[in-house]
Amino acid sequence: MQGDLISLRPEGLYCEAGDFYIDPWRPVDRAVITHAHADHARVGHRHYLASEPAREVMRCRLGAISLQTLRWGEPMTLGDTRVSLHPAGHILGSAQVRVERRGEVWVVSGDYKLQADPTCAPFEPVRCDTFITESTFGLPVYRWQTDAQCLAEIAGWWADNAAGGRASVLLCYALGKAQRVLAGLAQAQALLGPMVAHGSVTAVNAAYRASGVAIPDIFTATDWRRNAADTPPLVLAPPSAAGSPWLSRFGDASIAFASGWMRVRGARRRRALDRGFVLSDHADWPGLVQAIEASGAQRVIVTHGFEAAIVRYLSERGVQAHALRTEFGGEAGAESDTPVSADTHPVAEHLSESPH
Ligand SMILES: [Zn+2]
Ligand SMILES: [Zn+2]
Repeated sequence: MQGDLISLRPEGLYCEAGDFYIDPWRPVDRAVITHAHADHARVGHRHYLASEPAREVMRCRLGAISLQTLRWGEPMTLGDTRVSLHPAGHILGSAQVRVERRGEVWVVSGDYKLQADPTCAPFEPVRCDTFITESTFGLPVYRWQTDAQCLAEIAGWWADNAAGGRASVLLCYALGKAQRVLAGLAQAQALLGPMVAHGSVTAVNAAYRASGVAIPDIFTATDWRRNAADTPPLVLAPPSAAGSPWLSRFGDASIAFASGWMRVRGARRRRALDRGFVLSDHADWPGLVQAIEASGAQRVIVTHGFEAAIVRYLSERGVQAHALRTEFGGEAGAESDTPVSADTHPVAEHLSESPH
């Protein structure tokens, strides 16, 4: 809208008063990046601004970019605005962007979750007038169990497979999810057997370690073969590795996927998986509602996900809310919790459920 501190341009979310974009999808001069997932941190911008904890993963993903970083909460003046970054709890270095001009405050959430995660700083509620929120899992059906419960399920599945002489292949996004699982299973490794990482996971592990996050040391596929351990391994690989020759080296294997989408009935079957673990790097429905309330915003703009359900929920409670179409997420292969195809994402099935 006219006069808004942040508005939509063909390149992405734009702040005219500060002359910068937030997670733009087309090349721009100055890009403030919430986090290093592919749909938010794209190549081709002239200057990047991100959080200091995101530095190594940004470099891992984007190479030799012109990158400036800010510590959490450190203010920076851009044009007429004061910009600062605050933890979003999504992956290492993931930030909410706070923009202030003459006392008016906007916050762009990026992707976020409220659950504790040993691999990144916890989500920090930031008070604002207008909150631009994601809504990847913005339907009441999405409610997560605790990480401890989910990790116990994964460990149990791994133990059962090992007892049956089968490898356990856990498909998960290479940036964020894999490290969260690894950190969570660090203790189990000694009991259950070796862990092996796909090359894309190994590269991100190195970036996390360089950032000071404790990620257990695990085998590459080559090292594992050389060691030829008797115990069948737990293998962490990106979803794109499903059905690939790379996986065939592990022989008989149970294939599972760790994603919030596994909460949807039928999603596991449609992807021909043996198991699905509900583990998401995004807020579930109660998390979205809690974060929006904690922002104290009188106005909420809802982006990528189930905009309609959140907008309706907020409108019924007297909050000014509307949806904004962006180009985050949604596409196959994005390094975030996005559905791979429309048929893994039965919107209609769940929109019929009451949001209360
Ligand atoms: Zn996203
Ligand atoms: Zn993301």
